[in-house]
Amino acid sequence: MTLVNENFLKLSNNYLFSDIAKKVRQYRESNPEAQVISLGIGDVTQPLCPAAIEAMHKAVDEMASSSTFHGYGPEQGYDFLRKAIIENDFNPRGVSLDLDEVFISDGAKSDCGNIGDILGPQCSIGLTDPVYPVYVDSNVMCGRAGVPTKDGWSNITRIPVSSANNFKPQIPEKRIDIIYLCYPNNPTGTVITRAELSAWVEYALLHGSLILFDAAYEAYIQHDDIPHSIYEIEGAKKVAIEFRSFSKTAGFTGVRCGCTVVPKDLVVKASDGTEVQLNHLWNRRQCTKFNGTSYITQRAAEAIYSPEGKKQVRETINYYMSNAKFMRESLNALGYQTFGGEDAPYIWLKTPDGVSSWEFFDKVLHELSIVTTPGVGFGPSGEGYVRLTAFGNKQQTEEAIHRFQQWKR
Ligand code: PLP
Repeated sequence: MTLVNENFLKLSNNYLFSDIAKKVRQYRESNPEAQVISLGIGDVTQPLCPAAIEAMHKAVDEMASSSTFHGYGPEQGYDFLRKAIIENDFNPRGVSLDLDEVFISDGAKSDCGNIGDILGPQCSIGLTDPVYPVYVDSNVMCGRAGVPTKDGWSNITRIPVSSANNFKPQIPEKRIDIIYLCYPNNPTGTVITRAELSAWVEYALLHGSLILFDAAYEAYIQHDDIPHSIYEIEGAKKVAIEFRSFSKTAGFTGVRCGCTVVPKDLVVKASDGTEVQLNHLWNRRQCTKFNGTSYITQRAAEAIYSPEGKKQVRETINYYMSNAKFMRESLNALGYQTFGGEDAPYIWLKTPDGVSSWEFFDKVLHELSIVTTPGVGFGPSGEGYVRLTAFGNKQQTEEAIHRFQQWKR
């Protein structure tokens, strides 16, 4: 008899965004005239920049001729893109990387999950709470999360962040093998300073831990003391893998491209004490299970580093960040407590006292026709918050805020 991977049966059936979609669908059905505005799901709304579109058209034309056609590409990605990433995203921040330390991916989500393939099934996990759900569920799927407990999973330590600790995760006293850090953070929109990130790197160096650093939102950082990459911190190449994405940087959510950096200095041990380079294992894993990101996509990604591409991408990020500023300032003026939104496209809004995340979600949906994301869906410490995104278009964002201003609470 064929048996299933029973770890999948341990997953919660409720997927946050499908629960939200169901509630929104029901609301629309009973209120067909309502103009629903979504400040919920974190997808972008603005089109790809002209430089990327032009590069894609050109790449498509290349595919039309046998002399310029591209079939299977390197599993690790084309050198032209790896080089552009290193020269533009890392070198200017004082980080040097070899081409073979950068692996082009089809986005950060896949690799945040896939990375577990090369790590021991018994490794303990630490993550900040609330959290991007992929870090939890991908560990449940392979059994690394352990067994369900009353507040989570036996092998996952949740490190709470909330207004009570100013969204600064406390470094654990015990040793944890694998720590996920996502900064700028989804869902809270909060950030970590260079000094604070250094403390995590020191912890990992001291304990032989591995940090999985998700920098999917680094392009939104506005302040100088906030690191864009964990490798800006001395010693980080020995303890960290970094995930990057063109999704939010350049509107590639539907195009699919990102990269994963696995430094060659990063060495972990096999159970017999043999030292193993994770770079080598990840390369082996990719060559077996991944056939590369499409040539057309990689040319589009390369184009965002041209002078025009950089300017165009920056304009779109500024557009979203001006939404964020407007939302934050207007909501604060109405007396709401908000966090994030200064170096990230997410605003983490504290619900009024005694009102749960889902109660606030329902009230705002039914009374304002606005969709938010209940904070508790990202973990227990998200209770009492909702996430708002700045990825909407300007007019709709203004209209949403106008509704909050008119709201007789
Ligand atoms: N990491 C975080 C924290 C995210 O919020 C997202 C997307 O929402 C991703 C990774 C996935 O990005 P990608 O589109 O590159 O798969």
